[in-house]
Amino acid sequence: MNKKDYYEVLGVSKSASQDEIKSAFRKLAKKYHPDVSKEENAAEKFKEAQEAYAVLSDESKRKQYDQFGHAAFSGGAGGNAGGYDFSGFDFSDIFGDIFGNSGFGDFFGGGRTSKGSGRSKGRDSLMRMELTFEEAVFGTKKMINIDVMEECEECHGKGGFGEKTCPDCHGSGSITTEQRTILGSFMTKTTCPSCNGKGKTYDRTCSSCHGKGKIKRNKDLEVKVPAGVDTGNQLRLAGKGEAGTNGGPNGDIYLEFTVKKHPIFEREDNDIYLELPLTITEAILGIKKEIPTIEGSVKLSIDAGTQTGDKYRLKGKGVVDVQDGRKGDMYVIAKVIIPSKLSKEQKKLIDELNRTNLNDEPDFKKIDKYLKKA
Ligand SMILES: [Zn+2]
Ligand SMILES: [Zn+2]
Repeated sequence: MNKKDYYEVLGVSKSASQDEIKSAFRKLAKKYHPDVSKEENAAEKFKEAQEAYAVLSDESKRKQYDQFGHAAFSGGAGGNAGGYDFSGFDFSDIFGDIFGNSGFGDFFGGGRTSKGSGRSKGRDSLMRMELTFEEAVFGTKKMINIDVMEECEECHGKGGFGEKTCPDCHGSGSITTEQRTILGSFMTKTTCPSCNGKGKTYDRTCSSCHGKGKIKRNKDLEVKVPAGVDTGNQLRLAGKGEAGTNGGPNGDIYLEFTVKKHPIFEREDNDIYLELPLTITEAILGIKKEIPTIEGSVKLSIDAGTQTGDKYRLKGKGVVDVQDGRKGDMYVIAKVIIPSKLSKEQKKLIDELNRTNLNDEPDFKKIDKYLKKA
């Protein structure tokens, strides 16, 4: 089978930009869309253009195609030898652009409504949840209260009883009208207003849901928050959103977390930071010190001569990664506290210490050199 070159199909050069490719496809789609086109072989040409666009609009697929030609996709999903199977490709943004103002918006807008059936996914919603530092680190279970639109049990989501084929659209769910303009006549397809695209009407409207097929319910839902979540992370509760229309799937709830500050621990990604106060003698002499971690206290050896800002790493004492379960580390940052009040005895001892040669350190000598010059 001799397939036409994708660039040729779209009428663009091999070095065409994504914008050029998009606009070329848009033109062809307008010309050959089977619902509007009167051209010969419109359906075939439209399909050809769709396939070419699906490949060339995707940089990685385009690269494969540039390297291997049609062979790059032969034997792929769908089994169409020498062609790219684009059945899963979402054209909705393009079609929404093209047809959004001419009555096709109902069919392609958002890509969620499949043609004619009126089936669509329920709306997604976003909720926020505040967590304590520990809840975020270790995970938790929480109840949330949500309002959801659920399928009406009375009519099983149909909205009425005594189903019959819609007399206005004869069951197709859409109505085609002819518009005459100076450029010629134009066929416009819209969702049938009598049945809202279902293709069916009812003898009696359901009184529970007033024909909507959906009923608002207030529910408590237990949510398992995984260990390691952080501010801004979202958890998707699939299918817990609003009910779909005409048998379409439910929407999702996205739960976005905000984590409260901890009094002593600070978190950066999966690492935890702790500022550890040390007395001057602890810092000078060194000490084995008990320090808190998120998993209980551990002993840490502070070296003699520790300065403010010195860092000690405790491997694996951080937070588990919410994706791969690996653990972050904990960093202990030393902060030497200079006493602001001294007892008489302390002052005496410090005075004594002061008479020793404490400034025998390179830092002091560096400055001294400049003092003597002045
Ligand atoms: Zn109808
Ligand atoms: Zn009902």
